[in-house]
Amino acid sequence: MQALSKFCCQNKKCPDFGKRGVNNLTVCGWYGKNSHIRLLYCRTCKRRFSERKGTPLFGLRLPEEKMVSLLEHISEGCGVRKTSRLVQVHRDTVTRYALAAGEHAKTLHDELVAFSPQNH
Ligand SMILES: [Zn+2]
Repeated sequence: MQALSKFCCQNKKCPDFGKRGVNNLTVCGWYGKNSHIRLLYCRTCKRRFSERKGTPLFGLRLPEEKMVSLLEHISEGCGVRKTSRLVQVHRDTVTRYALAAGEHAKTLHDELVAFSPQNH
């Protein structure tokens, strides 16, 4: 779980837009299949947004461990077909993630691993 100070308001009109660690954010809910994605609330502008917003993975729905595995394969240079077979996700999904993550696949993977629970 990533500390709230790592996030910032995503509302461009908010005075606190893009500022991290100013204590304007609180968690107002959870969503996703396992309710593992936090919904953040900005006290300054009273807007809500997903903690995934502003990251290339926003809107993409895969369990965290599949996402990690997928990004792992991509960043190791596995092709789309190979990754699709090994991670057991559809080729189109692999392509979408590969495009979304791009050169950041490695970074994203490391971040996901760093903030994922260690018990799987
Ligand atoms: Zn705000």
